[in-house]
Amino acid sequence: MTILWRNARLATMAGTSPYGLIERGALLVDGDALDWVGPESALPRALAKMVEEEHDLGGALVTPGLIDCHTHLVYGGQRAREFELRLNGASYEEIARAGGGIRSTVAATRAASDDALYLAAAQRLATLEREGVTTIEIKSGYGLTRDDEARMLRVARRLGEQPSPGRPKTVAGPLGGRARSDRGPTFTRAATVRTTLVDAVDAFCERIGFTPAQTRRVFAAARELHLPVKLHAEQLSDQHGAALAAEFGALSCDHLEYLGDDGVQAMAAAGSVAVLLPGAYYFLRETRLPPVQALRDAGVPIAIASDHNPGSSPALSLLLMINMACTLFRLTPEEALRGVTQHAARALGLASTRGTLETAKRADFAVWALEHPNELAYWFGHNPCRRVVCGGVEVAHE
Ligand code: FE
Repeated sequence: MTILWRNARLATMAGTSPYGLIERGALLVDGDALDWVGPESALPRALAKMVEEEHDLGGALVTPGLIDCHTHLVYGGQRAREFELRLNGASYEEIARAGGGIRSTVAATRAASDDALYLAAAQRLATLEREGVTTIEIKSGYGLTRDDEARMLRVARRLGEQPSPGRPKTVAGPLGGRARSDRGPTFTRAATVRTTLVDAVDAFCERIGFTPAQTRRVFAAARELHLPVKLHAEQLSDQHGAALAAEFGALSCDHLEYLGDDGVQAMAAAGSVAVLLPGAYYFLRETRLPPVQALRDAGVPIAIASDHNPGSSPALSLLLMINMACTLFRLTPEEALRGVTQHAARALGLASTRGTLETAKRADFAVWALEHPNELAYWFGHNPCRRVVCGGVEVAHE
């Protein structure tokens, strides 16, 4: 089926012009791929003859489908009670004694059935999708046993194989999360057993996570399995994790509030993407800003993600993250939009097929009731997304 989506203002995010804008643009979709992208008036006659279905978008803004390249979407329970306790003045020890913290999420995840994990995550996914998200990464890391990690990963895979072909492609992610350091070997074994469930390997290198030495062991195991790596790095302190990850050619280093200049240079040399997570920064009321200007100066691509998780970022709006990246981290609206499209695709190793509107890429795009792409960063607290097309198929919104 060849479908023409026409009369649109296309923010292709391709090339070097601002937003890759094309006025009165058209997208020709053949199956799940973009067959042609450009100004409507330039559509070759031979291609125009092949059109079987046509949609007039009335001048609406179209962007690539948004990509949330860092989430922990699959888990049991939630931590609102802990949030409340903290705001009532409870200390971390008291919260831990009351059964809070990451251990409560591990316990609730282990206790939940596969179907319960799936249904809860599918609802969250639908919320993201209604805001134009067509690709997400999901990290495991709340199972902490081989079987429970594999179970989380199977649920993540299942989310990407929904019966409706319009559903977002889930990139099942890796061994991330707030693992305690004594769990390092467990993680490594989990990766070894279920490689078909894993697209990349992640770790949390921090005083309260893996040590650099443990992170190196996890990455060495990943390398043996030919799996790319990424890292929760420099969130609470500078462990020089980004430089370590860069040694392994990391796809991305994420958080980065405490990233030093050595880390910036190492990431630039390795081509790693800096994934900034304003939701966690905000929710934890952090004050140390990631070194955005140093990353810019070094030419490190910057991505933005929700880091959705029940402990430090219970955020289910990538649009809000775009706004926060601008207000909190001082990204420009164009940088923030590249951060959830072009650069987010690269953070997942999917830059050749996703993240921009270009011929031969996947037909993933969102139609917005907006005039200009800078409005995606400007408005917050409402959803101007009108239509979502994923793999060439329009996603039905209930
Ligand atoms: Fe995370």
